[in-house]
Amino acid sequence: MTAAAEAVLSEETRRFVAAEHQLLINNEWVAARGGDRIPVIDPATGDQVAEAEGASAADIDRAVAAARTALNGPWSRMSPADRGRLIWKLADLMEAHGQTLCELEVLDNGMPMFAAQVGALQFATNYLRYYAGWAGKILGDTIPTSRPSPDPDAENLVYTLREPVGVVGAIIPWNAPAPMMAVKLGPALATGCTLVLKVAELTPLTNLFMARLLVEAGFPPGVVNVLPGYGHTAGAALAQHPDVDKVAFTGSTEVGKEIVRASAGNLKRITLELGGKSPVVVMDDADVDRAVAGAIPAAFFLSGQNCMAGTRLLLHKKIEAEFLDKLTQGVRALKVGSGFDPEVIIGPLISDQQRQRVLGLIDAARSEGAEILTGGAATGERGFFVQPTVAAGTTSQMRVVQEEVFGPVLSVRTFDTCDVDEIAAEANATVYGLSGSVWTKDLSVAHRLVKRIDAGQVSINCHAAIDPATPFGGNKQSGWGREFGKEGLEPYLKTKAVSVAL
Ligand code: NAP
Ligand code: MG
Repeated sequence: MTAAAEAVLSEETRRFVAAEHQLLINNEWVAARGGDRIPVIDPATGDQVAEAEGASAADIDRAVAAARTALNGPWSRMSPADRGRLIWKLADLMEAHGQTLCELEVLDNGMPMFAAQVGALQFATNYLRYYAGWAGKILGDTIPTSRPSPDPDAENLVYTLREPVGVVGAIIPWNAPAPMMAVKLGPALATGCTLVLKVAELTPLTNLFMARLLVEAGFPPGVVNVLPGYGHTAGAALAQHPDVDKVAFTGSTEVGKEIVRASAGNLKRITLELGGKSPVVVMDDADVDRAVAGAIPAAFFLSGQNCMAGTRLLLHKKIEAEFLDKLTQGVRALKVGSGFDPEVIIGPLISDQQRQRVLGLIDAARSEGAEILTGGAATGERGFFVQPTVAAGTTSQMRVVQEEVFGPVLSVRTFDTCDVDEIAAEANATVYGLSGSVWTKDLSVAHRLVKRIDAGQVSINCHAAIDPATPFGGNKQSGWGREFGKEGLEPYLKTKAVSVAL
């Protein structure tokens, strides 16, 4: 732990970190059966701070069995109002334990405290309450039919029931553990599903703390089961499990493809929230100061370990000099360090492996001819830090432009056209299609570009403006389906058509 961490950790956080970290199955804390021991590392120091049990395939089996039993138990007869109340209660408990939740998020993932407050508290609790409100508002239809009736006196009544899709296997990444868990819980619980949640091996602490709050909130046994574990064991077992009805996966595109293959056994439904390489398009008439102020967090929030990160800056040549000058100054001013230091904006990367990957991509950019305007190296005596980096003069073939870096690296390309088709073609020139933003004062250009950018969410004069009520998801290899908002309920529901001869 860093000195900054030692100085601030609350008593509750210390006690939690020092406790045993087992699996939550059927509302009981149990040891893994022949699973792994997972070291929990503070990425700001590289020191081990705890150890968690890692679920085996046998643990996934019993968690799925608990979720199946719970699906047909008292949970299925609970009123929507009571389901909503439980979800709301979870949000209340997260707020009541907000300090601990945020400290764990910083310790586990390395993100700065402000980011934990925004993600683990503000966003996650808003999100849960948004879906708590949906529990009683999920409606079927009554449908007028033209089917001739064999009995001339009979009337037809046709209506639909929206039923929970069943047992959900949720698999989440490490880059924002608390909000990721909330994102899976909200719609699944609002619709009456039950879950087995596989937590990322690199960040089990916050999610296990939230699991305690789930029990305290009063969810019936088996409704939510929370299991830390490795992807290739626990994750794979969940993805291919014959008694799981749906997998909600957030993670890399590569593993997303494995999830698709694993789903074939029982044709379970899947939603995939995958990687991105999102463009930030700055036109020549943009307000330079505002666009610079927006482009920096777009690229560097969570040290770039953020699926929506705006990591490809497409900049109009006319404002190149002024923009890059201000951008470079702004990026140099970002303080790098422990997330517990209140002035820090850029925390460490999640692991040494991730740091090596990011440095490798920076080296590749250099050797392919990019100019590193600032950053470009590891930093800090301990921990997994990389300087926020801007690589200019990039071309569309470079790896740093094509690959998701998942680190603090912004690539810059300039263009000197105002043709929206040409600009959009450049913005779309990766396999991803998650987010994007357009910066201009010309509304007509903005809306024409937005229409042409192939991404799940595109913003004008802001980037990645996510909200629980706004659909979120990716096109192309950034994913299948949408989470958040009303649309986010659909993957958790199935429709039963009921025909009645009256
Ligand atoms: P990852 O390697 O794909 O891991 C994601 C989750 O899948 C982890 O829980 C992982 O477990 C598990 N997993 C790994 N292999 C598996 C397998 N064969 N079967 C089932 N589960 C498996 O992704 P990551 O590197 O942790 O996270 C970064 C990626 O997530 C980036 O590509 C990022 O863009 C993406 N992401 C997308 C969104 C979005 O909403 N679109 C949001 C956040 C992150 P282990 O941790 O034990 O490997
Ligand atoms: Mg991984």
